[in-house]
Amino acid sequence: PEPPAGTAVPQAGDPDLVLLRRVGVVDPESLDDYRANGGYSALRRALALGPAGVLREVSDSGLVGRGGAAFPTGRKWEGTARQPATPHYVVCNADESEPGTFKDRVIMEGDPFALIESMTITGYANAAEKGYLYIRGEYPRALARLENAIARARERNLLGRDILGSGFDFDIEIRRGAGAYICGEETAIFNSIEGYRGEPRSKPPFPVERGLFDRPTTINNVETLVNVLPILLMGGPAYAGIGTGRSTGPKLFCVSGTVRRPGVYEVPFGATLRELVVLAGGVEEGRELRAVLLGGAAGGFVRGDELDIPLTFEGARDAGATLGSGVVLVLDDTVDLGAILVRIAAFFRDESCGQCVPCRVGTVRQEEALQRLSAGTGARRTDIALLREVGTAMRDASICGLGQTAWNAVESAIDRLGVFAAPPDPTGRTDAADGPVGVSK
Ligand code: NAD
Ligand code: SF4
Repeated sequence: PEPPAGTAVPQAGDPDLVLLRRVGVVDPESLDDYRANGGYSALRRALALGPAGVLREVSDSGLVGRGGAAFPTGRKWEGTARQPATPHYVVCNADESEPGTFKDRVIMEGDPFALIESMTITGYANAAEKGYLYIRGEYPRALARLENAIARARERNLLGRDILGSGFDFDIEIRRGAGAYICGEETAIFNSIEGYRGEPRSKPPFPVERGLFDRPTTINNVETLVNVLPILLMGGPAYAGIGTGRSTGPKLFCVSGTVRRPGVYEVPFGATLRELVVLAGGVEEGRELRAVLLGGAAGGFVRGDELDIPLTFEGARDAGATLGSGVVLVLDDTVDLGAILVRIAAFFRDESCGQCVPCRVGTVRQEEALQRLSAGTGARRTDIALLREVGTAMRDASICGLGQTAWNAVESAIDRLGVFAAPPDPTGRTDAADGPVGVSK
């Protein structure tokens, strides 16, 4: 039967699922149920392979980070594992805050032991004895289930000293965020765990060399980590056979907006955007799909006539967007795009940590210009020129990803969707409201 609209995991129980196969099927509070459904067999395989063997499988799999930046996971792990400085740390970035992103929440609430097992394997391969799980403060159910999973794992010697008699020690501590989006930035997480203000640090040095407490640190997103389980169980090369090109494996997408069945969907890389939208029930009868915001507030818009693009990192880039953290925000012809852009700009202005000028000032100027344009009180050409100037400064001169990407969606809406474009003047005259171009005051 068709799942009801709004179900968190509309595909629950589908035998072809890899990442979501236990979600909605197992009791998330029972270690026995987790083990009865294949849990902890990947850790046993990891202990049999040894740390170098695990690194090889992860590198061979072609896995890249699922938090948004798609950095090769094997390269990151090797970068940490080879550092002579000790101790090494593992950090799980569970501060899922990108607007429209809710895939990590579904994993943590529905299959929490999978994340604990994955972090343990990551610790083993990265020569780390301590892991921190930094979870978004607004996820109380996920927090409770992870706390329970850690306690149950300790009871059975799946965490702690000499795990399963292997001689490997590893334990996990949970830290909660307090509502700041910027605390999802990896170096801001380190500052937050260390007790400082959650502000990003300049990179390099990258965390693999100097991360938490200035020590070599591997930090991965929740979805990235749980991919390690199927990689070990099926082997890196077999995993690399899922997907296409350099986008290997299964991928979770968070489909929201004006679709009939919003939710988290798992598809292999290479499925088309149209297939995903159909899976989510499409838009309401009689409505037209106008655009899709791909990759979140830091991503880009795809037009309604571009739905056949493949959902791969390369496919999204060729379409002028990004897959980011898997956001697929569908917008039909009832949606006011100007209002959406003002909302995105207000979000970035609110969440800027204020540490560097281009972002602190630029996000304010961007919101003001968009408010004028959206209300129809702005001068189109001067305000759009101002947006481009401010956007370029933010992209080129901000310290972290927030400022560097705060203009992405606005730029894409102006250039690809024609938002705020002047209507053609039948007399051929210039709109007086347009004013001269290039004024930036
Ligand atoms: P980044 O490209 O700077 O780095 C990506 C990862 O690779 C980091 O862990 C970094 O330490 C590592 N790395 C990069 N170069 C390296 C090198 N030479 N050696 C070793 N490690 C290296 O990106 P970022 O600023 O960490 O993340 C930006 C992304 O975060 C954006 O794409 C955005 O989509 C995403 N994002 C996600 C969420 C969410 O809720 N999931 C929220 C906000 C932003
Ligand atoms: Fe803070 Fe923005 Fe600078 Fe990032 S770019 S450090 S969020 S002010």
